[in-house]
Amino acid sequence: MKTIKTFCLIIGSGAAGLEAGISFLKNFSTSKKEIKKCIIVSPIISNSRISPWNIMDCSEKEIKEKIWNAGNHLSDPEILKTFSENHKHSISILKELEIPLKKSNIGYIPCLSGTNIINIFEKKFISLGGERINGFVEKYLVNQEGIIKGAVVYHGNERINLIASKIIIASGGLTSLYKYTTGYSYDSMPNILALSLEAGIALENLEFNMFHPFLIIDKNLSTSLISGEILQKGKYADNKGKEFLSKEIKDALINNTFHSLFPKMVNEFYTQSLKSKIYMDISNLSDDYFERYKKENEFGWIFKNKKLNEVKKFEIHPAFHYSIGGIKINSKSETNQEGVYAAGEVTTGLHGANRIGGFAISEALVFGKIAGENAAANITLPKEDNLTVIGNSLIDSRIKNIFWNNLGPIKKYKDLESLKTKISLKNNLSSEEKLVLEIIKSSIKRRSIGANFII
Ligand SMILES: Cc1cc2nc3c(=O)[nH]c(=O)nc-3n(C[C@H](O)[C@H](O)[C@H](O)COP(=O)(O)OP(=O)(O)OC[C@H]3O[C@@H](n4cnc5c(N)ncnc54)[C@H](O)[C@@H]3O)c2cc1C
Repeated sequence: MKTIKTFCLIIGSGAAGLEAGISFLKNFSTSKKEIKKCIIVSPIISNSRISPWNIMDCSEKEIKEKIWNAGNHLSDPEILKTFSENHKHSISILKELEIPLKKSNIGYIPCLSGTNIINIFEKKFISLGGERINGFVEKYLVNQEGIIKGAVVYHGNERINLIASKIIIASGGLTSLYKYTTGYSYDSMPNILALSLEAGIALENLEFNMFHPFLIIDKNLSTSLISGEILQKGKYADNKGKEFLSKEIKDALINNTFHSLFPKMVNEFYTQSLKSKIYMDISNLSDDYFERYKKENEFGWIFKNKKLNEVKKFEIHPAFHYSIGGIKINSKSETNQEGVYAAGEVTTGLHGANRIGGFAISEALVFGKIAGENAAANITLPKEDNLTVIGNSLIDSRIKNIFWNNLGPIKKYKDLESLKTKISLKNNLSSEEKLVLEIIKSSIKRRSIGANFII
């Protein structure tokens, strides 16, 4: 098998991975031409490409208070402090790359699509001497002390051993593991949180996942999250046209105060989805309003080339949206393994038990920058002796159903216990099944709080 050596291997090419790569290359120089400076391994897809990058703008004090309160006071204080102090850098990073910004409902939003923004980051990374392998990490390579020192990478039809001095994990969350997801889905790509668990990387808060009620799954429209003021104007009904939301949630939607009731709102949609199909009905909109939404809102593209009377009513479904739990890091983006860093949605600590919108992209940029800077210090040559292969990934519809049916917005102690027994009796567990056991363990251990709703 071909072997490539690099000073820094980054897994993932979303906002966190690319910013980590840029900041690594800005802080690292070498005369050793035979070793690659920095390689990102990742397919093109990422949640950063489909996200509109709406970034909350408020003072350091307000950021701290908002996140601390939304997360039921369970944020890691060190991570929260680092984030609130460095949040302003997320805007400077975008300005430095000349990405035009405009005011949004919560702060700033780029005038470009997520795909165009990521292309600009990638161009910058390449211009600084970085390289990207269009493939994915299939397994980890660990040394005799159990520390990750590289990866087996699947690229085209071949496998490559990539040996690195430093590793930055920026692989996003559990998006591909859920049957319903607002993010990308890529079945044959191993989940890096599952591989990391097997390789001894410390994970935390796995019981906390954020779900969203508004995933369009209608055959006449693209499968996509829908958001913006239109949510307040819609009616939510079952297949017989009967509205099902409680008065509290209905009023909160109309008055745009639903963000503080998010888990409760998701639960009402989820409970209904177990009984019938759910439809969003926008027939009461005026044509003018609809045309304006299409033009001005970041999700308006969903209705491109459609007239209001063609999409008066469409099917939606609650879906997985964001991993609050993940790899435990400190304020330097270091994991429990020396030389292994992590950044972005794959990590945990900032959001405590629950997340409010508008801080995920800035989290990816802030900790991506920190990870790259720290990884660039104290670099030794990559070594390839006595490495062991770790990982046994299998993502298929069975595991996606397990995640959605058992680890969704409402978890049941009884179901978790029986699933735990069933999986534990199996031989040769996949990496993802081991992750399921770990999520069950942490969900049961924690009382019902924030995004861990358990009955
Ligand atoms: C529809 C949608 C809208 C959103 N809107 C907003 C918003 O407006 N504001 C906000 O702050 N946040 C928003 N979010 C959340 C935010 O976009 C994400 O949290 C953020 O993009 C995560 O960035 P990341 O770099 O950590 O991960 P990602 O962007 O998900 O990137 C992870 C990368 O890792 C790669 N990868 C995964 N597994 C492997 C493997 N085995 N080998 C190699 N590579 C691998 C993936 O292909 C991908 O390139 C939204 C999310 C979604 C889904």
